[in-house]
Amino acid sequence: MKFTDRQSNNKKDADAEKFLREPVLIREETDEDAVLNLSLRPLQFADFIGQEKIKENLLIAIQAAKARQEPLEHLIFSGPPGLGKTTLAHIIAHEMGTKISTTSGPAIDRAGDLIGILTNLEHGDVLFIDEIHRLSKVVEEFMYPAMEDYKIDFVIDKGPYAKTINFNLKPFTLIGATTRSGLLTAALRSRFGMYSHLDFYPWQELVNIIKKSADKLGMNMDENSAVLIAKRARGTPRVANRLLRRVRDYSQVKADGKVSPEITNAALDLQGIDSMGLDDIDRRVLGVIVDTYEGGPVGIDSLAATLNEESDTIIDVVEPFLLKIGFLKRTSRGRQVTEAAYKHLGKIATGDMQKEMFSGE
Ligand code: ADP
Repeated sequence: MKFTDRQSNNKKDADAEKFLREPVLIREETDEDAVLNLSLRPLQFADFIGQEKIKENLLIAIQAAKARQEPLEHLIFSGPPGLGKTTLAHIIAHEMGTKISTTSGPAIDRAGDLIGILTNLEHGDVLFIDEIHRLSKVVEEFMYPAMEDYKIDFVIDKGPYAKTINFNLKPFTLIGATTRSGLLTAALRSRFGMYSHLDFYPWQELVNIIKKSADKLGMNMDENSAVLIAKRARGTPRVANRLLRRVRDYSQVKADGKVSPEITNAALDLQGIDSMGLDDIDRRVLGVIVDTYEGGPVGIDSLAATLNEESDTIIDVVEPFLLKIGFLKRTSRGRQVTEAAYKHLGKIATGDMQKEMFSGE
C-alpha cells in the first residue's frame, strides 16, 4: 500500500502555520487490487454482507448521533486484513452524510503531519486511520486532546523562544482500524466510544459477496462456481474478490468468458490455492514448522527468519486464518502445527510431535 510522501522541502516544525495549508494525506489507489476493490466496495450498509451485530450497533449509533446533530463517537475496528474495516469506515461517512479522509499510522511521522490533517477536517467529517497501532508515541499523544476536546496545543521553537499555538478543531469522528488490537495502548483504546472486532466470514456469506461482485463485473456466475470460490477464500471478502477476478481472466482466455465449476477449479488450481484455501505462503509456513522444527513450537522471529519473511506479515496475514481453521496453535513456547495440518499436508509427524499425537493430547 502506498501513501503520498510528505513534501521533502518541509521546514522545521517552527513554521507551524504552514501545516494548515498542507494537503491531507490521501491513500494512493494505484495497483489492480486497490482500484478494483474500490469499484467492488459496498457504499451502504444494505450492500455490506454479514457482521450483523456490528452493523446493528453502528446503525443505532448513527441514527442517534444524527438525531442529536452530533458527530458519531470515535470508533475502532479490529480484525485481520480484508474483512471490511475500511469499507465500514466509508459506509459510515456516507450514512452520516460527511466526508472521509484516510491515512495510516506509519504515514503520519510527525505531530505537524497530524495537525495538517486535523485542521482540514470539517464539522462531522470522518478521519480514518488504518494501522492505528503503528502511530508513533509523539503523534499518539497529540491525538488524545484532539479526540477528547477537539483541541491541540503545538509548541514551536525551544527555550526562551518557545511559544504555544492552540488549534481549535471542528468536532470530527476518528475511525481507527487495526490488525493487532493487542498493540494499542490502554490510553488510546480508552478514548474510543465503540470497539468492534470483525471475524472471518462463513463461506455462505462469501457466496453472496461473490455473486454481487460478479454482477458488478458483468460476469455470468453460476451458484456452484461461486461456492467453489467462497470455500477457498480464507473467510475473507478481499480474497474472494481477488479469486473471482482470476476466474474471470481464466474464463475469458480459456472458455470465451463462460464460467463453470470446471473452469473455476482450474483457475484456482493455477493460482496455487488448495482445497482449504491455503496458498503458497501458508503452506511454506506450515512446511517450515514441520520440516525444520519438527512441528514446533517455534518462536515467531526464528520462523520469520527461516522463511525470509517479516514477522508482521506472518502475524497479521498468514497466522489468523491458520489459527482459525485449527492448523496452528499458539503456545507459550511459540507456534505449533496441529495434527489436522499434518494430515492436510500429507506429512507424518516425527519426534515430540509424534509422541504428542500418539498420547492423544
Ligand atoms: P480491510 O480494511 O479490513 O482490510 P476492506 O474494507 O478494504 O478490508 O475490504 C476489502 C474488500 O472486500 C472491499 O473492497 C470490499 O469490496 C470487500 N468487502 C469487505 N467486506 C465486505 C462485506 N461485508 N460485504 C461485501 N464486500 C465486502
